[in-house]
Amino acid sequence: MNEPFAAVEIIAAKRDNGVLTDPQIDWVVDAYTRGAVADEQMSALLMAILLNGMSDHEISRWTDAMINSGERMSWSELSIPTVDKHSTGGVGDKITLPLAPIVAACGAAVPQLSGRGLGHTGGTLDKLESIPGWRASLSNDEMLKVLQECGAVICAAGAGLAPADKKLYALRDVTGTVPSIPLIASSIMSKKIAEGTSALVLDVKTGSGAFMTDPEQAKLLARTMVDLGIRAGVKTRALVTAMDVPLGLTAGNALEVRESVEVLAGGGPADVIELTLLLAREMLELGGVKGKDPESALKDGSAMDHWRRMIKAQGGDPDAKLPVARESQQVFAQSDGLLTKMDAMKVGVSAWLLGAGRSRQGEKVQAGAGIEMHAKPGEMVKKGAPLFTLHSDEAERFARSLAALDDAVSISALNEKNVKNEKNERLPLIVARIK
Ligand code: URA
Repeated sequence: MNEPFAAVEIIAAKRDNGVLTDPQIDWVVDAYTRGAVADEQMSALLMAILLNGMSDHEISRWTDAMINSGERMSWSELSIPTVDKHSTGGVGDKITLPLAPIVAACGAAVPQLSGRGLGHTGGTLDKLESIPGWRASLSNDEMLKVLQECGAVICAAGAGLAPADKKLYALRDVTGTVPSIPLIASSIMSKKIAEGTSALVLDVKTGSGAFMTDPEQAKLLARTMVDLGIRAGVKTRALVTAMDVPLGLTAGNALEVRESVEVLAGGGPADVIELTLLLAREMLELGGVKGKDPESALKDGSAMDHWRRMIKAQGGDPDAKLPVARESQQVFAQSDGLLTKMDAMKVGVSAWLLGAGRSRQGEKVQAGAGIEMHAKPGEMVKKGAPLFTLHSDEAERFARSLAALDDAVSISALNEKNVKNEKNERLPLIVARIK
């Protein structure tokens, strides 16, 4: 085929800080997807984009080119508004699990196309796959059926959705080009726009366990994504939320399902409940759904009913015993005092080393592996009390996982000053709201 451009000219233009034209962007994304641009050329272009950035127009065009590489889903057969949530990923971030059935119970439809985890953050599909029988892969017709019957569906994005992003994300992962705002924003938003939701709430994480450790960079990522969504006709809003400390008291697949079910049953950790309800209210407001309040959907059991129906509709048994890892080991507090720090990244890496996450695409994860936290920053602990329980099917994993937890927590002898500093050092749960 006679190609209209040479990849090397486009690479050189971005290397020299130039602005790519619409036809250049359309061509390079399409040509890479069909194999006419080589991995080494796209790697060079991605690195030039990471180093030199992109204008708002370039980001928008790049996003459109990725959307146009595949199908665009439509939920026009539904009589109620569709609203989705996307998190940029964090440690212990199981919010999607209770959130989707809560929002469904309040009267919106939630089409959640999710991913698997890579590295230290877990993936929603990996978590749900710890439920015996549950199936992540659904055809588009099955997806619609589950959505109509249960109000929410959480499943894997099919191969036809933004295939350019699938190929580009895999390449970014191995070329050190993931942490670029234009590339992250276009990657996430191409999939969410192609998914066909009419409203979208983004949960952009910041802090040690997030992609964007710096809150200002996280706000910029949130702004970029909100603008892309609005430009594409999707009502979009973002919360920038704390990921300096893990969310909840568990990090690991089955452990996080258990905690999510506790929330749906009316219990669970305060931070998970607070963030879930905040996001649910944002989603309902954005979708224009004035039904039940999310808190009452928890209290009256309707959120739990939606969860059970959704799990069953995808082959899962909501009553089945969740897998438990074969081995466990506890970590104890070394002194009395106030827990002032629990580093989200270290806890995430430690859970990953226990077998909760994967280091290569396609690798199997252990359903029962992960970490239970017995105290969180702001709480007093006693010397010798358990801080963490580590779980894994393979006892030989404990040594590296324990090493990863080195310096993950700080305990200060309590006095007025510590209490004050501790409060100042931690990020607030909601760092910013961007609309
Ligand atoms: N999640 C995505 O889907 N893409 C990114 O680039 C980063 C996180």
